[in-house]
Amino acid sequence: MELITSSERLSEYLAEQRLRRRSIALVPTMGALHPGHLSLIDLAREHADTVVVSVFVNPLQFEHADDFDLYPQTLSIDEQKCRERGVSALYAPTAAQMYPDGFRTSVHVSHFSEILEGASRPGHFDGVATVVAKFFISVDPDVAVFGAKDFQQVAVVRRMIRDLDFRLRLIVAPTVREHDGLAMSSRNSRLTQRGRRAAAQLSLGLRSAQQAFVGGTVDPTTLIDVVRRCCNDPLLTIDYVTLVDPNSLEPVSQAHPDSVLLIAAIVDEVRLIDNAALGSPM
Ligand code: AMP
Repeated sequence: MELITSSERLSEYLAEQRLRRRSIALVPTMGALHPGHLSLIDLAREHADTVVVSVFVNPLQFEHADDFDLYPQTLSIDEQKCRERGVSALYAPTAAQMYPDGFRTSVHVSHFSEILEGASRPGHFDGVATVVAKFFISVDPDVAVFGAKDFQQVAVVRRMIRDLDFRLRLIVAPTVREHDGLAMSSRNSRLTQRGRRAAAQLSLGLRSAQQAFVGGTVDPTTLIDVVRRCCNDPLLTIDYVTLVDPNSLEPVSQAHPDSVLLIAAIVDEVRLIDNAALGSPM
């Protein structure tokens, strides 16, 4: 595996791969790799010959400087994990390379970027869309793998791929969870022991609503109430729980198996998100 830190070397490396007629998969990450990220890498290896993982903590998608500063950065451990997992190249550019002085361009996917997570984190999805577009342009992959854990991110990226004519296949990997159901996240390492226990209620709530749906409940308000009642630890502050159509992200008036419950909550000042389709047991 090669660790690549400059865009010039990335171009050379990719040209060599294409000359050898190897298909290319891209797995964009912000590092601090955990088994969720590794499952994306496994999926990428199934779909392409060469797997490029990017590790870049993207300043554009952080609203607060302290959240950015606190984000775990563990490049040498990430490098080791990628090597062991059969990654072909790890691309870790600097912020100065990605955003040279005077950088002024932004990709904005309207509506999808403004609702839900976008309402609580203004500018977040512009940062995501901009950096993902830059990686798509510089890597030009045949496939890109994203995690279903960031459901709205997938919706934003999917629409951007369509609107900007990126020629690649988007593959969405299922969420990898801890033994108690908590969705794995690099941010979980910032939780206190108490907060960590409270955080498990998010997935518990989603699972209970799935069970209520299987039991015949189709009223969105009732299903949302089921989630809220499970998330009763005083350490948890719910930002939103909603039941949406997976394509439009608009609230549904009646639940269907493909309707998706989205939840966002703050625990120990850490923002956690999770989601589940009603008809897909977790
Ligand atoms: P991040 O490093 O948090 O930006 O995540 C990089 C990619 O990994 C994104 O596509 C995420 O959706 C995905 N990801 C993060 N956590 C998980 C998880 N627990 N299971 C599956 N994919 C994940």
